[in-house]
Amino acid sequence: MTPFPEPNAKLELAPDQAESLARRLTLRLAQDLGPEEAIRLLPALVRALTGAPPEPAQARLRREVVQAARRLADLGLMAGTAGNLSVREAPSHMLITPAGLRKGEMRPDDLVRLDMNGNQLSPGLRPSSEFRMHLGVYGVRPDVNAVVHTHPPHATAFAAAGIPLDRPVLAEAVLLLSPKVPVVPFGAPSSQQLVDHLQPWLADHNAFLLANHGAVCLGRDLAEAVQRTETLEFLARVLLAARMLGGENLLTHADLRSLRQTRTEPPADSR
Ligand SMILES: [Zn+2]
Repeated sequence: MTPFPEPNAKLELAPDQAESLARRLTLRLAQDLGPEEAIRLLPALVRALTGAPPEPAQARLRREVVQAARRLADLGLMAGTAGNLSVREAPSHMLITPAGLRKGEMRPDDLVRLDMNGNQLSPGLRPSSEFRMHLGVYGVRPDVNAVVHTHPPHATAFAAAGIPLDRPVLAEAVLLLSPKVPVVPFGAPSSQQLVDHLQPWLADHNAFLLANHGAVCLGRDLAEAVQRTETLEFLARVLLAARMLGGENLLTHADLRSLRQTRTEPPADSR
């Protein structure tokens, strides 16, 4: 019987063997963990199998932004070339999606690096025209490292109607979007006026409807900002349907208390 290899032993695989093994493992992971997690793990898996050096942090961040943009575009939350994403790459600069491109078709090299005054640090594509809004967020929220601006159809319908998402209806939305999702008064897209209108809400909110325009979600990291965006659109969709059915029932104070308690309690096996 072949002895089981040492944990750190390097596998001697030809590139096509490694690729085939990575593909099979990814399919298995997709069954166990879901396709998104499998795709997220794929690059690390291939590197582990081929013995390639770890991906540098900067390259990883660019890849994650491209993957997030593709996901949001696939979900229909960024029609045409709309929407923009950024991450704080370091205290002194951010990476932002470029102007004009369809965000689902971007490549990692298309992202634009800007310093915190909006100066472009590398030649190439123009940054999103909404870069001032992203800078405005990072300037006042040191805890935020990612900003996602989308045009989700149902959430934008609430933004167009001037109706905030401020009622406790869905557990996930309460936890992720609290205290509420306000409607920020209209400012023309890309204008300083839009940044000025957003400013008063920034200190203590993480998700915003931009009147007659779209949505903005913040996160400690990109995954959190994306999750808030998806949850915001889901909430808007459910609310719209519930109102057609006669109106939503609200979670009670007791429901909210138990919800927050459940989330802060340690899992049963670690008590
Ligand atoms: Zn927009």
